[in-house]
Amino acid sequence: MTNLLDLDYEHLVSYIETFGEKPYRAKQLMHWIYQESLIDFNEMTDISKVFCDVLKDKTTIEFPSVMSDAMSDDGTRKWLFDVGGNNGIETVFIPEDDRGTLCISSQVGCALECTFCSTGRQGFNRNLTTAEIIGQLWLANFYVRQQDGYNALANSERIISNVVMMGMGEPLANYDNVVSAMKLMLDDRAYGLSRRRVTLSTSGLVNAMDRLKEDCPVALAVSLHASNDKLRDEIVPINKKFPIKELMAGCQRYLEKAPRDFVTFEYVMLDGINDSIEDAKALLQIVKDVPCKFNLIPFNPFPNSGYKCSSYEQIRKFKEVLMNQDYIVTVRKTRGDDIDAACGQLAGQVKDKTTRSLKRMNLT
Ligand code: SAH
Ligand code: SF4
Repeated sequence: MTNLLDLDYEHLVSYIETFGEKPYRAKQLMHWIYQESLIDFNEMTDISKVFCDVLKDKTTIEFPSVMSDAMSDDGTRKWLFDVGGNNGIETVFIPEDDRGTLCISSQVGCALECTFCSTGRQGFNRNLTTAEIIGQLWLANFYVRQQDGYNALANSERIISNVVMMGMGEPLANYDNVVSAMKLMLDDRAYGLSRRRVTLSTSGLVNAMDRLKEDCPVALAVSLHASNDKLRDEIVPINKKFPIKELMAGCQRYLEKAPRDFVTFEYVMLDGINDSIEDAKALLQIVKDVPCKFNLIPFNPFPNSGYKCSSYEQIRKFKEVLMNQDYIVTVRKTRGDDIDAACGQLAGQVKDKTTRSLKRMNLT
């Protein structure tokens, strides 16, 4: 059986051509699945009986199932989706006044072993399929629409206006599936998000960044976290393969064709490790040729991490050094703390967290 969620428009067109169906059928199918949230072929009224029978016979529309679903006091909602083999992936919805952002996972675990990241500590299990990646958006959209305050909205109104590939995994290490899923996010026949509202966060796989700018040039966030190779080699080990200089050149190339775009540099604030004023000044030096913004991320502690988050005061001082040079600097708000919805919080603790979330929702 072919899971239709695995196919972006081009792949869907080629697939249905094998049954003698024309491309406009792909458009119709995508409309029902992604815009109307329908998965029952019988309800897709403009699909011919013959094609409907083929679809029922040869295809499925299948999603990960929900392991847990927890809502924070601040409205942040986190799901743990079961992707088989006792593995859970996390998806987080963050509502704000002017937007709704969904944070999506791309792999089960991660092979890149950044020392401050609990997903990295857990090791790599497997890549998510395109269906499992786009399925997170489908499911979140479906569930949020049932929430109070959202349930009166028409299907055409966007609740999830932004998507960030910042959950578990390194998206560029699962290139093909991530690109197909992002194409569906951007496709007017599916979710129709603008490419500036879809952000891919990478630890810096420069060769894949070069491919991405051709295949699907979404907004790029780069996890920098250090302003010299010695420290970055240690805390973001992929730096040994793509050191800072090459990474910066890759960022410049990424922006070549879109002069109004910028890269967002993410920088996790680790107490006494990378948060000095000198670090901030060195950071300004290394990024000087790349149009960019900064996003400072307070470190999210997890058991035996060996790190502490920088003090509020230190983050403020660090931020000031960057702002004094006219950079736009945001400090990531810690949202959904009470449900551990922040980055790097879940990995390796799937079972525990499930039980806790269910308890919190009084389901056990
Ligand atoms: N693999 C990609 C995207 C997923 S991680 C990447 O590394 O960019 C999303 C962001 O959260 C990255 O900037 C990552 O470095 C950061 N992060 C990971 N663990 C964290 C932690 N414990 N506290 C704060 N930020 C963390
Ligand atoms: Fe992987 Fe990103 Fe975590 Fe590094 S920070 S281990 S690349 S998920």
